[in-house]
Amino acid sequence: MTCEQSRDALFGYHFATLNSDERTEVERHLLECRGCVAELIALKRAIETAEHGFPASNGAKARVRRAVAEELGLAVPARPVRARWERPVAFGFAATAVVCAVLVAHAVATGPAHLPRAQEGTAIESR
Ligand SMILES: [Zn+2]
Repeated sequence: MTCEQSRDALFGYHFATLNSDERTEVERHLLECRGCVAELIALKRAIETAEHGFPASNGAKARVRRAVAEELGLAVPARPVRARWERPVAFGFAATAVVCAVLVAHAVATGPAHLPRAQEGTAIESR
């Protein structure tokens, strides 16, 4: 495999879209060619630290990997195991958001409408 062929295949190598023979050829070339290893590292860096937009979350990356693996008929990677604390914390945030929304709705529905009457009452008493 030439350097040009190797560099053309690096994108597919990174995303695991090469067949087994192509992958083996690229790996054989990479063992002998520091220039192509440097190219692969630069490509991986460019892909993984894309300067445009926000980096994908780990969950999004896992979903893409699963979808690609299913599409290609490869072994589907296992679902990431959530840390024990993640679910209660997420539930806590959701519950807090709901409580805040209810409080804001209540304040908007009842708060300002009662103020003028109360102020009128105190104004009359003070005169
Ligand atoms: Zn090379």
